[in-house]
Amino acid sequence: MHLDRSTVWPYERGEPGEFIYSRYAHPTGVEAERALAALEGAPEGQALLFASGSAAVTALLLALLEPGDAVALAAGAYFGTGVIMGELERWGLQHAEFDQTGAPPQGADLVWLEAPSNPFLTMPDLEAAAEHPARVVVDSTAATPIHLRPLEQGADFVLHSGTKYLAGHSDALVGAIVSRDPEAHERLWRFRQRTGPACAPDVAWLLLRGLKTLRVRVERQTESARVLAERLGAHPAVESVRYPGFGGLMSFDVSGAEAARRVETSLRLITNATSLGGVDSVLEARARWEPNRVPAGLLRLSVGLESVDELWADLEQALTED
Ligand code: PLP
Repeated sequence: MHLDRSTVWPYERGEPGEFIYSRYAHPTGVEAERALAALEGAPEGQALLFASGSAAVTALLLALLEPGDAVALAAGAYFGTGVIMGELERWGLQHAEFDQTGAPPQGADLVWLEAPSNPFLTMPDLEAAAEHPARVVVDSTAATPIHLRPLEQGADFVLHSGTKYLAGHSDALVGAIVSRDPEAHERLWRFRQRTGPACAPDVAWLLLRGLKTLRVRVERQTESARVLAERLGAHPAVESVRYPGFGGLMSFDVSGAEAARRVETSLRLITNATSLGGVDSVLEARARWEPNRVPAGLLRLSVGLESVDELWADLEQALTED
């Protein structure tokens, strides 16, 4: 792991070398991109880092689509992805939601899946999507390459908010796109170079450090999440649990807004905060951000690395009315 904060590198005998200017590429970023491409089973180096997951989403849409193109977007996916697509409506981009557990609609120019969706935790039908003539993007932020390698199942792009599990410590904002096709990778690289949503070297270094422990973190989070999903499912104050059986992310419903607020404010170990994928467990009622589509009692829980019994004790006391 080599941290080089330079923005410029000297020409060699009057000619630009491998690294020129850090908006194009920098050594720490390239090292992280190689590591991520390998984790996703992509051709060597066909990964690109961005300033955030949202910057990666925006770059992919702008670089690869034309005005008038239509995106079929998984219903229940991260609400911010739909918000970005809505922003781009002014530039002629159309999008419509569909149920990603079935086949994508005909006529779409790009299929956008999320594995599993945040916060509804549905899994896409990757086989059906691969049969669709359009290119397929899988936002695999919550699955991570430990549980899913979408390129091996026919996807054309894997996208991550690396802010979450990949970096893993809630201290680095970063996005990534891993491409199957070298031409698409080249197009995205050129777009990033020209428009500038690059990831800083320090952040790339934090990502590299996070990748070193990705497997042990995610395996442990999955182990704990399975136990918690089961115990939550049996708790009388919990109406339903959404958990795909792997990963550290789940959501569960209590009776409504008041009950959700009581859980949020009663927690002692789990932090009441947004985001997911870090070493510390966080929980929040999602209705504060996406009230039009999420039940008022829906609580999203991202399981960290604390002892599972201590996590359960915290949830149990927060769910118990006093
Ligand atoms: N995709 C998913 C599934 C997310 O959960 C998020 C953020 O919550 C994003 C993309 C956006 O990533 P970022 O916050 O790094 O911009």
